[in-house]
Amino acid sequence: MRTYDGMLVVLSAPSGCGKTTIVKQVMANLPGLVFSVSHTTRSPRAGEKDGQDYYFVDRDEFKAICDQQPSGFIEWAEVHGNLYGTGRQGVEEQRAAGLDVLLDIDVQGAEQVRRAADPVTVFIAPPSLDELGRRLRGRGSEDEKTIALRLNNAGKEMQAAADYDYLIVNDVLGEAVESLRSILIAERLRRRRTLTGESVDLE
Ligand code: ADP
Ligand code: 5GP
Repeated sequence: MRTYDGMLVVLSAPSGCGKTTIVKQVMANLPGLVFSVSHTTRSPRAGEKDGQDYYFVDRDEFKAICDQQPSGFIEWAEVHGNLYGTGRQGVEEQRAAGLDVLLDIDVQGAEQVRRAADPVTVFIAPPSLDELGRRLRGRGSEDEKTIALRLNNAGKEMQAAADYDYLIVNDVLGEAVESLRSILIAERLRRRRTLTGESVDLE
């Protein structure tokens, strides 16, 4: 049984890159990893469920959580014109239970978490901007104006990639999934070595 706080794992990627697809596959194959459900003021996409994909709130509700003392959010940011934030309580409870918590957040949020905690940070990049455009259009969940905004932001987000511990290029999906899973397993082992200071019992 694990007797220490779980890791905080920050995952960022330009929208449409395949992050959600990768996360779902890794979660299905790595026990002890949970997904932090964010709050957002964006409207739900077809098929998205409140409390599962996001907590969908209006701006007033979002601001009320923000204004709690201490803030109800570990981090929050405006992304593509909507507000997104990571609730503090859920993350702290899950980590205290020894679970590793995965935050799917943008580059601004990642910077806030880096300053406040000691996360493992992973950036996922598309093979090219052209391919990113194809994936965004193929997903069919945004109109052309929103796609243009997200593609325009992708170039800026890519500049932050060097600030992350790891970079995964999501070209072949299976390889990207295996890369993220491997990173998380290795980080668990790396962190475990300094947790107790006790020698390993070889008997
Ligand atoms: P994100 O969560 O990063 O916005 P999604 O996971 O929704 O992106 O993926 C965007 C689209 O790209 C989806 O239609 C998904 O099926 C597709 N996709 C994801 N990874 C790959 C890949 N390696 N090759 C081709 N298509 C992919
Ligand atoms: P989408 O609208 O496509 O679900 O997400 C858009 C962007 O918002 C993605 O880059 C995603 O990582 C980011 N995002 C989702 N939740 C949060 C959050 O809680 N905080 C921050 N800072 N970004 C988030």
